[in-house]
Amino acid sequence: MVQKAAAILMIIILTLTAGMAGRQENEKEQPFLVQITEDDPSIAYVLVRMPNPVGLLPLPTEGEYTRTIRQIMPDGSEAVNVLHLTPEGFWMEAANCKGQDCVGEGMVTLENREERVLWNMVVCLPHQLVAELITREEALAMIGQ
Ligand SMILES: [Zn+2]
Repeated sequence: MVQKAAAILMIIILTLTAGMAGRQENEKEQPFLVQITEDDPSIAYVLVRMPNPVGLLPLPTEGEYTRTIRQIMPDGSEAVNVLHLTPEGFWMEAANCKGQDCVGEGMVTLENREERVLWNMVVCLPHQLVAELITREEALAMIGQ
């Protein structure tokens, strides 16, 4: 089971890498973290599942950044989701899914994540992508550190 999950993760990473290599822009992508180092000052992370956990994106301590996630769907089409991260939280800035419900789900912050209908999550059902805001402590517990 663990091996299967690891294999799926590898396929996703390879797919993401292949997708990035094909791009013309030289925009630097924030890599997904699979562990948290002590010199990482982030107090919270966005955990991305597609649908298995792919990795963590740190909330920036200052400034903002976007992270484009591309995956090839079973029908061969390319699924694109763009997450926007700030020191307070994140939202889905853009997506090419039908309906674009995920783009309208609003911002998740450490303050509002208990009160939102979807709690700490932004969900893109057509792309089977879930992004959730977790604290550093929750992230450490999740990855067993
Ligand atoms: Zn969507």
